[in-house]
Amino acid sequence: MQHRVTASGATPAMAQWFAAKEQAGSALVFFRMGDFYELFFEDAEAAAEALGLALTHRGEHQGHPIPMCGVPHHSHESYLARLIRRGFRVAICEQMETPEEAKARKSATLRREVVRIITPGTATEEALLDAARPAWLLALVRGGAAWLDVSTGAFHTQDAPEIAALVARLAPAEILTEEGLELEGATPALVPKDAPGRLAEALGVASLEGFGQFSPAESAAAAMAVDYVRGVQNGALPRLAPPMPEGARGVLLLDAATRRSLDILDGPRDASLLAAVDRTLTGAGARELAARLAAPLDDRAAIRARHDAVATLLEDGTRRAGLRAALKGAPDMARALGRLSVERFAPRDLGAIRDGLDRAGRLARLLDGVPPGLLDAAQAPLSALPALAQELARAVATELPARLEEGGTVAPGYDGELDALRRLRDDARGAIAAMQMQLAQAWGVASLKIRHHQQLGYLAEMPAAAGEKLLRAAPPGANGELAPIHRQSMASAHRFTCAALAALDRRLSEAGDQARAREKLVVAHLRRMILAEGDAIAAAAREMAALDVLAASAELASGGGWCRPEIAERPDFAIEAGRHPVVEAALRRARGPAFVPNDCDLSPGQRLCLLTGPNMAGKSTFLRQNALMVILAQAGLYVPARAARIGLVDRLFSRVGAADDLAGGRSTFMVEMTETAAILNQAGPRSLVVLDEVGRGTATWDGLAIATAVLEALHDRIRARTLFATHFHELTRLADGLPEMRLAAMQVREWRGQVVFQHSVAEGAAEKSWGVHVAKLAGVPPTVLKRAAEVLAGLEARAAVGTDPLTAAMPLFAGAPPPPQPPRASPLLEALLALDPDALSPREAHDALYSLKALA
Ligand code: ADP
Repeated sequence: MQHRVTASGATPAMAQWFAAKEQAGSALVFFRMGDFYELFFEDAEAAAEALGLALTHRGEHQGHPIPMCGVPHHSHESYLARLIRRGFRVAICEQMETPEEAKARKSATLRREVVRIITPGTATEEALLDAARPAWLLALVRGGAAWLDVSTGAFHTQDAPEIAALVARLAPAEILTEEGLELEGATPALVPKDAPGRLAEALGVASLEGFGQFSPAESAAAAMAVDYVRGVQNGALPRLAPPMPEGARGVLLLDAATRRSLDILDGPRDASLLAAVDRTLTGAGARELAARLAAPLDDRAAIRARHDAVATLLEDGTRRAGLRAALKGAPDMARALGRLSVERFAPRDLGAIRDGLDRAGRLARLLDGVPPGLLDAAQAPLSALPALAQELARAVATELPARLEEGGTVAPGYDGELDALRRLRDDARGAIAAMQMQLAQAWGVASLKIRHHQQLGYLAEMPAAAGEKLLRAAPPGANGELAPIHRQSMASAHRFTCAALAALDRRLSEAGDQARAREKLVVAHLRRMILAEGDAIAAAAREMAALDVLAASAELASGGGWCRPEIAERPDFAIEAGRHPVVEAALRRARGPAFVPNDCDLSPGQRLCLLTGPNMAGKSTFLRQNALMVILAQAGLYVPARAARIGLVDRLFSRVGAADDLAGGRSTFMVEMTETAAILNQAGPRSLVVLDEVGRGTATWDGLAIATAVLEALHDRIRARTLFATHFHELTRLADGLPEMRLAAMQVREWRGQVVFQHSVAEGAAEKSWGVHVAKLAGVPPTVLKRAAEVLAGLEARAAVGTDPLTAAMPLFAGAPPPPQPPRASPLLEALLALDPDALSPREAHDALYSLKALA
């Protein structure tokens, strides 16, 4: 990174750039120069590197060439999108006047201003957004959080949030933190003075009271977010829904490690829970499903209401098909509304509201006669705006132009004055055709054509030879209004005009301008009409998204093999023939063996299950699938099982899979213990805990001791429903002292000298010789296996007489001594035993003798 350049000695344009840069802060400046946005100095270097553009130079500053790169204005959005996705912020510095206006001010430099700073959390353009994901801007202050999605207006706050869990749940596009709160990658921001007042003013209300109770920290975070959005949008604020204070109650708590462990929204090679269960048909529906899986509910009535709705749509296949047909291809009303509210919209956003309201009305009619519940309650908001829907149906053209300036957004027949102006313009176009014939005759040039030119307007064009002739002597008819006036000569053609053509050209362009101006007025009127109903449109959009999710869940369940989970009062957990939806889908895609379903019962009396089995036998899959059952069930979806009864879970903890790659500097063991500590401190009798291989990150006896202590704490004190997988076979002996602990093992068989994993879970402990057995099949030399068997036998013998460290050292942490090892053979004997005479060539046998002699 070069040192910062100062503005002194800059040319006028570069001085403007320095001023823009000052305002932009850490954002890259897109500096408009004619048809390009140009970037300079370190901005140019960063952008050239990120976008793979050529870095060049333009002019000099303080005796050094200025590094520069540029992107064309007409295609800048795709470059912007790439930069924003890479986490850059971009300040757009526009030309604020035409060259003529600058000349009139006697200035050689166009006025330029930063009109907007685009950041990952404040973008509204389609190209900058992921249709299937919300774009949260999360604001964090001490003791409070607020998050909003500028693209849809959704707005939430929370008092005393668990920051890591909230960040993991929302996966924000951008995070703001107040001064003093350190968070990697976050943008520092300021909490305004009188936060509640600022917030009320931004929302256009006298006081926040109508929206619910906000703590001072919540309103501080919310006001900070709103101020930031305003700041980057040059004072403009998009339409925002009233903020919803969200108590910690009501949602199933999932910490960051649990989310990582379960690949809920994102996973390796796109294999996530979301991807496996997503049957939604709209972007808004996909966003809603992601939000539900990221924050499942902790409220029986609310969960049941969702299950009821899915059940209705599952049973009534005809209705479901009708609803899904009406949802398919439905536009994203929420985001179109967001763009309309900040006046950065295209004609298709008007079309989106028109078509969206039309779809909403159709969906409402398709819900006629549903039983009371969520579906029935959706009818009213879906059909709340018939008048606006009709008005837009009349007002917005069927075929929409890409940009407003092109004209044609407003449908013919909607505005009389616009129609009249358009007719005038079209008549003038007809007059051009007539004039072409008239001039061809009057000038005696049959090949004459009237063409339109960007700079020169309408001109009569003819081949050079005909042009020369006309220049030498005008024919008798070419006088007065029709006298040719020469405008341009080129190698192959000459261009002329005449007073009549010039007058027609003027009329045409005036009519065009007037029609455009009138259309702008009409569009502004339509926009106001839409924004006046903003809340109702947003509500209809929300219902549509929810309906998409419910119908999609029913669609998924209709494939068979999914059941409605019973949400019980008692802390039961009884899954019959459960499956892992992601692993199952992967096996199916690979045309591999069928997924083997497994039961799991952690109901009172048998709350703790200790699972053993060799690697690759399916332990992690089983653990995760039971954690995923809870997420699916409490998100309101059906679950992949024959039957499921789940007592409401308040917190779900899952520690399965490699913590290693996430350690980032800390030792694996430290990470593992920190995460285990979090569980021991937070889990309770309504929680579900899923743990894999606690204690594997340290020496065996330490690890075993820790695993034992954790198991005992979960069993005796915390009393959480627990699935605990381990490779410490010794732990199975704890079963005698822990009455609610059950043993389970992954079934493995040998078949024709191959280990066959059956992937089924059975009662009891795994046969312990499998480790040695698998090693043999893997080709570990027989002498090593023999030695391993000896050590194993020695350990077992000691355990049998009660001197193994586990039983001897109870209670735990009393400093278990390392186990005395069975006597080791001498190096010479070991080397001798390691020899396999049958496998040696005469030459190797000779060498072996020498090396044995050296050991003697
Ligand atoms: P472990 O945790 O015991 O090492 P995994 O759970 O990672 O084993 O499973 C290893 C592989 O076995 C999985 O990738 C999957 O292909 C397969 N597998 C696991 N469980 C099942 C099952 N119930 N049915 C079919 N295949 C399974």
